[in-house]
Amino acid sequence: MERQGNISISSENMMPIIKKWLYSEKDIFLREIVANASDAITKHAKLVSMGEAEGDGAYRITVTADEKENTLTVEDNGIGMTEEEVEKYITRIAFSGAADFLEKYEKAGGEGIIGHFGLGFYSAYMVSERIEIFTKSYQAGAAGVHWESDGESTYTIGDCDKETRGTKIVMHLAKEEKEFSKESTVRGLLEKYCSFMPYEIYLDPKGSEEDKPVNTTAPLYTKQPKDCTDEEYKTFYRDTFRDYSEPLFWIHLNMEYPFRLKGILYFPKVRKKVELERGQVKLYCNQVYVADNIKEVIPEFLMLLNGVIDCPDIPLNVSRSFLQNDKQVQKIAGHIVKKVADKLNALYKNDREKYEACWPDLATFVKFGAIKDEAFYKKVSSIIIYKNLAGEYRPLESYFGEEPKEEDKEKTEPKTAYYVSDVDKQAQYISMFKEAGLDAILCDTYIDPHFISYIEYKNPYRVRFMRIDADVAGEIKEEAGEDSDVAAIFEGFLKERGVKVKTEKLKNTAVPAIINVSEFMRRMSEMNSFYDMGQSPEDMTLVVNTACGCVQALKQAGEEERKVAAEYIWLLALMNYRPLKPEELERFTSVSSLFIGKYLKTM
Ligand code: ADP
Repeated sequence: MERQGNISISSENMMPIIKKWLYSEKDIFLREIVANASDAITKHAKLVSMGEAEGDGAYRITVTADEKENTLTVEDNGIGMTEEEVEKYITRIAFSGAADFLEKYEKAGGEGIIGHFGLGFYSAYMVSERIEIFTKSYQAGAAGVHWESDGESTYTIGDCDKETRGTKIVMHLAKEEKEFSKESTVRGLLEKYCSFMPYEIYLDPKGSEEDKPVNTTAPLYTKQPKDCTDEEYKTFYRDTFRDYSEPLFWIHLNMEYPFRLKGILYFPKVRKKVELERGQVKLYCNQVYVADNIKEVIPEFLMLLNGVIDCPDIPLNVSRSFLQNDKQVQKIAGHIVKKVADKLNALYKNDREKYEACWPDLATFVKFGAIKDEAFYKKVSSIIIYKNLAGEYRPLESYFGEEPKEEDKEKTEPKTAYYVSDVDKQAQYISMFKEAGLDAILCDTYIDPHFISYIEYKNPYRVRFMRIDADVAGEIKEEAGEDSDVAAIFEGFLKERGVKVKTEKLKNTAVPAIINVSEFMRRMSEMNSFYDMGQSPEDMTLVVNTACGCVQALKQAGEEERKVAAEYIWLLALMNYRPLKPEELERFTSVSSLFIGKYLKTM
């Protein structure tokens, strides 16, 4: 006997709203329906384990996509429902659950509810014009129940012949949702949402040996770290992220207290800037996929990694801003950051060789993380390494001075650490540094300029960075090398170009002059061009080397020769600092030919 009933909540208003809000993510309905099936099986398994029900443990979920009928069916052999339960859980709870969900959605100002958990059974109406349920409870003597509704206002319920225990949900798809009756579409969705669900899911099984579940019921991350091999970690990585390059290393998270958290984070190879955005951290809740890259749970800089995190304790049917302010979620994020830092520290301590080999891939991630997350910075500050002029890695902190006592801070000068940003362009400066026994670090990745500014800001009394061409380091010059006559020669033509002149006696006697650009002004100018604020004028100082024979010879030369030679020295210094501009190159060519002419006549 079929009975009719009215769905008590005013769900006719809900449908259009749900459809509009969830339009882009309506495929989550399949996750909701399959997750319900999985829950129903878990409930049954629990009853069996308590001796309250009989079962053989052969649990499975079957999904059937029927293009001809335009239906999608999900069947389980879980706990099933009696007629009263269908009334209570489907007609009342499922529909009020959706109303509840909508209310939360409205409160969140439409900014998105994490994972859309909580929409449940009702979400299937986003794609169906009618849904039928065939179910039979595990209870002895229970009759089959048939329920049917268009989801809007009325439903019918009655008996049916159902032989087996469990629930079958038949979704009669709307015409415009035909897509969901295609096997390939459904397979894609099952792979996305259900690939780690704890019971085998079969799609359109033929009933033969060849039927294979679409999911892995015990994904690697659910195992104990000590039971997993390197090979398994690599395979899991390849299968989950479809990345065929090997990960550098990984971190297996596994904790029960004070919250439950399982997962594996992989450090991928990311040498190029463009690849940085490629990370993907998938969030799961009890093996059900929720979403990718939820930045409220996983700190932004960790998104450069690839990984899976399963955290059943995160409230998922809440808004993002709620998660942001949730203490528990903050603790989880903090814990993940700590684990990552611990792993890096362990690698640094126990396998320096591997750490250094991985560093080019890790560096950007670590520096980015340090800038973004103070707690992470504190944990990794001593294991940030840079190559020096000899090509050896050294900890950045080894270039720092001691942190002064509070009362001494005022009078403390931070130690200067020199750096090279381009080995080829700064070759002349590098060789002078090497001759003088000085060291500098190699800062040649795009994040370094930001990073060293950050380090200075964090350690104002310990270190200040200066590019190798920013000033004449004490050790590369002798005392008292000034010569005002020489200075006057150069000032004569450089003053009007806005270039300052300085004379020094350098230890290297072969280089007539070098150019310095103040660190501060250069950084300003770099920042301006970074933010597209146009080029600022160059703030250059020509440092003329009075220890060089040809500079001394200038003083004896005739006026005309002196002018030409001084300009030549200037252009040479300029070339060693940056590529010449067209008009400078033209001058260089004509001055050079004058020299060649003179030289040939004297031969
Ligand atoms: P939720 O799963 O969040 O409780 P749903 O709207 O998805 O909300 O489902 C409402 C209820 O209907 C469930 O709590 C469960 O009791 C029942 N239910 C749904 N699907 C099934 C199923 N496949 N087998 C047994 N019971 C089910």
